[in-house]
Amino acid sequence: KPTTNTNFIKNIVQDDIQADRVKQVVTRFPPEPNGYLHIGHAKSICLNFELADEFNGRTNLRFDDTNPAKEDIEYVEAIKEDVRWLGFEWDGLFFASDYFGEMYDRAVLLIKKGKAFVCELTADEMRTTRGTLTEPGQDSPYRTRTVEENLDLFARMRAGEFADGSKILRAKIDMASPNINLRDPALYRISHTIHHNTGDTWKIYPMYAFAHPLEDAIEGVTHSICTLEFEDQRPFYDWVVEECEMEQRPRQYEFARLNITNTVLSKRFLKQLVDENSVDGWDDPRMPTISGLRRKGYTAEAIRQFAREIGVTKSNSTVDERYLEHFLREDLKLKALRTMAVLKPLKVVITNYPEGQTEEMEAENNIENPEMGNRTVTFSREIYIEQDDFMENPPNKYFRLFPGNEVRLKNAYFIKCNEFIKDADGNVTEIHCTYDIETKSGSGFTGRKVKGTIHWIDAANAVPAEFRLYEPLIFDAEPEEGKTFMDHLNPNSLETIQGFVEQAMLGVPAQEKFQFFRHGYFNVDSKHSTAEKPVFNRIVSLKSSF
Ligand code: ATP
Ligand code: MG
Ligand code: MG
Repeated sequence: KPTTNTNFIKNIVQDDIQADRVKQVVTRFPPEPNGYLHIGHAKSICLNFELADEFNGRTNLRFDDTNPAKEDIEYVEAIKEDVRWLGFEWDGLFFASDYFGEMYDRAVLLIKKGKAFVCELTADEMRTTRGTLTEPGQDSPYRTRTVEENLDLFARMRAGEFADGSKILRAKIDMASPNINLRDPALYRISHTIHHNTGDTWKIYPMYAFAHPLEDAIEGVTHSICTLEFEDQRPFYDWVVEECEMEQRPRQYEFARLNITNTVLSKRFLKQLVDENSVDGWDDPRMPTISGLRRKGYTAEAIRQFAREIGVTKSNSTVDERYLEHFLREDLKLKALRTMAVLKPLKVVITNYPEGQTEEMEAENNIENPEMGNRTVTFSREIYIEQDDFMENPPNKYFRLFPGNEVRLKNAYFIKCNEFIKDADGNVTEIHCTYDIETKSGSGFTGRKVKGTIHWIDAANAVPAEFRLYEPLIFDAEPEEGKTFMDHLNPNSLETIQGFVEQAMLGVPAQEKFQFFRHGYFNVDSKHSTAEKPVFNRIVSLKSSF
């Protein structure tokens, strides 16, 4: 498949290196540890790490932990695991909170230069005096405080003398700027909150927009890559780097975030699903989190390939979820063992097959990859087939079993249906067939042809298994007025069924992946599978329109 991607940031990096503006590329992936990473983050991870790799640079993993109220060490550990699983190793591991001391000093420098002041307007007053796109804002009455007064108040904010929300440190830039982000934005707020890293040391915390450029500059990041919503913040980003007199000059570049059909990529929404028990944790296979995709059965290779192929541009768009599925199929096509599984079993008795007899049939492990070799499956008088591989009154062009019809059992014999048995409710519970010994698979039989081939499991050695089939958690439609995505949850997102797999599947290890004949790709669930009873998550079905 030809590569269709574009990556405009790669071109920028290449130019910077060629023109000798940059000696070594340094990027960073800067998650806030307030939830688990999702597939949108994977796009950013692949972009940052692969860019640095390609140009012999470095990539830091930096936790942007400047908002203690929402952050947790559990998320820090989960994020590290996910980045590693995706296949990347960071050069430096940092916490923004490790820089709180330096950030404080830089804020003091701004005050000394007359570029910052302590403001006592309430949050509401700040909003109403900020102006609009067409109206300039109004200067705060506290804007003319002396440097000494500001230094004193800021030190006392730090010491914890004031209540949350009562004072704020603001940049002194221009209340008439056409860019609202430059109208004296907040730099530090008071918050008497325990921080997961710094404990109760700090009673003030830097605002994200002030902290982020400092973090990048301190680490010597050259290309600070973020999503498009931050484009209007770039002038303030540059202002902070300049006015705080940072030695290293990072530059910010914005790209379009990833959106995918039938899913919401927002930690806040995903956390709500977890908190309200709408899913089985952050790694529920229906979640678009990296851990959810992993548990469902996605491979890191498929996700990385997807991230490369969607490209990096400046126009927002929504990627069809089937495009991601395409890369999973591509990755597993030649790797996964192809076996038989019966998801909705119907018993078949082969009436002319000797009772008590068992024979071993040869089956190829992957017809597209002969190197994977063969295995044997047992065959005997009673087998299971899929319920919908039999119909009492079939429509035209139904080539599977029905009274009087003959089909091929994959890797075994032709069988012909003679009778069926129904229960009191009219459900077919058992069918009776005869087999033709001449038709054994591999014997070269050409006497007659049948149109249908179906799969089966030997009842004598069938291993009971659970299958979990998934549909999207939510359907796309934007919620109407007064509704949220929680009102759009798909009640049928998980179907759990009980069936059978081949004997060799007993004790299969967690996270092992298979292609089940006609059903698609499946992964052994890491939470619920046991040695006695495997549990399989369907990753994707076999067909796709991509
Ligand atoms: P969310 O809104 O889901 O919480 P976030 O942007 O607040 O996401 P951060 O932890 O701040 O999450 O993000 C870490 C990095 O991942 C940022 O550089 C951000 O730009 C990037 N990122 C987040 N979501 C996406 C997405 N959908 N597509 C591409 N990059 C993303
Ligand atoms: Mg965030
Ligand atoms: Mg966000």
